[in-house]
Amino acid sequence: MKITDTIWQVGGDSLSAAGDGAVYLALFGAQAVLIDAGCGHGHKKIVANIKQIISLAVPIKYLFLTHCHFDHTGGADALRREFGCSIVAHEQDAVFLETGDSEVTAASWYQASLTKFRINHKMQGGREVFSIGNGSITALHAPGHSPGSMVLLTESRGQKVLFGQDVHGPLHPSLLSNHGDYIASLTMLLGLEADILCEGHFGIYRGRDNVRQFIQSFISDAG
Ligand SMILES: [Zn+2]
Ligand SMILES: [Zn+2]
Repeated sequence: MKITDTIWQVGGDSLSAAGDGAVYLALFGAQAVLIDAGCGHGHKKIVANIKQIISLAVPIKYLFLTHCHFDHTGGADALRREFGCSIVAHEQDAVFLETGDSEVTAASWYQASLTKFRINHKMQGGREVFSIGNGSITALHAPGHSPGSMVLLTESRGQKVLFGQDVHGPLHPSLLSNHGDYIASLTMLLGLEADILCEGHFGIYRGRDNVRQFIQSFISDAG
């Protein structure tokens, strides 16, 4: 599913396997990246979707995990084996993936257990810029839904694209969610003034006003 000339959705509930969070592919000239990995059951479909879009000659440099939840990370290790990408996660969520914590990663919500895997690059602090091919992607720590949630911001054909993923939450004690952090993070997202929002489950929002309204609705709900 094409979002812009350089960004596609390659996985998700209807694209790969039931329960999968959205998986996005972004191409930066001679290199590409993936954002999130689904829960793993749809691995073959995700790989087939990627291969329809980019040639095997284009390396996938990074797989960014926006947060530790199973519906976004269960398939990460298999994608790394397939494509040789480095897995990036914020250090405050990486710990739950590296120890295979099925409670905080919500794997238990899916009657599954998370098989622990190594994170190649642990983001620290609030902001990090990654160069990829002819462009870059900025990771921003956006805690609340989980302690180490992060969003990714990039540009495609002059449009600001935000991979906000689970903007909608939910917040739950077993996920170590934090309401104050969540509101602060959503407020930070509003300030990014993205033209396109790629959400974790709810699809694509286009146009600054639509993106703002969508994010704002969760500030109002949660507040
Ligand atoms: Zn999710
Ligand atoms: Zn989540």
